[in-house]
Amino acid sequence: MTDAIPSSFLSLFIFLFGLVFGSFLNVVIYRIPRQLSVVAPRSACPNCGAAIRAFDNIPVLSWVLLRGRCRNCRTPISPRYAIVELLCGFLFVAAYYYAAPLTTSLSLLTAFKINTPTSTYTIGIFRIGYYGGLGARKVATITPSAKLPQSQPPCITDVATNLYDCGNWAVSASWNVPRTAVSGVYLAVLIRPDTGGASQITFVVRNDSSTSDIVFQTSEETSQA
Ligand SMILES: [Zn+2]
Repeated sequence: MTDAIPSSFLSLFIFLFGLVFGSFLNVVIYRIPRQLSVVAPRSACPNCGAAIRAFDNIPVLSWVLLRGRCRNCRTPISPRYAIVELLCGFLFVAAYYYAAPLTTSLSLLTAFKINTPTSTYTIGIFRIGYYGGLGARKVATITPSAKLPQSQPPCITDVATNLYDCGNWAVSASWNVPRTAVSGVYLAVLIRPDTGGASQITFVVRNDSSTSDIVFQTSEETSQA
């Protein structure tokens, strides 16, 4: 299973968390060189010493509302504080999206390599499962991206072991695996309407952060396209 939290909501949350972190970073930047404690006392105006109240200590927003001045003595407060907070907000969101593909580890793009003399065919994407006895559930229909008919070069062959490697084929079609996709064993069903002929490609949508009671291993090495 993958997370179903809308990414816009999640981005906002991470951004706000970044702002709060930036606010704390400002305290650290100011106090550590002056050998002051980062936990106490409360933040105060460096000019008049008036304690900054909670509602005047909201990251970025308070600085904007107070027009960059101390509420008490009206001395300008450096925009550096708001800039550090904003930078942290954006950096946190960027870091999340940079790291996200690794943590959810759903393969984002599945490429199919097909050798066919037909000039038209469709690909149905099915997730294999019980589904009340149906055996599979259709999740998408895709069309080839390659120019048809598509003739592929001969596969690389090892005569001694009779091993075939068709990795030298060109990509025929691809499926952008949605973030909401359920991990598992999938089937790409190829159908050519001219003769009614069909073929199947098995593939796996992986999610390394998933946990299951039953583990199923596919025989990837012996499957033939
Ligand atoms: Zn002041």
